[in-house]
Amino acid sequence: MIMNRCQKCGEILKPNREVWLELNTKTFTYTDSGVPEKDSQGWFSFGADCARKARLQHFKVMEKQP
Ligand SMILES: [Zn+2]
Repeated sequence: MIMNRCQKCGEILKPNREVWLELNTKTFTYTDSGVPEKDSQGWFSFGADCARKARLQHFKVMEKQP
């Protein structure tokens, strides 16, 4: 069985409990709300808490985008 680790803190995630977020190489933030294909670096697994923080960070960065 493959055990995924949280991309942020390294915590080992229970199977089917990981949250998958896509890395946007333009902003270097993670999101599940869509990344243009040319900016995507693929999907990474996170724990629930770290995923929430990563999404929030992405949201804040996107707010500042023109
Ligand atoms: Zn984590």
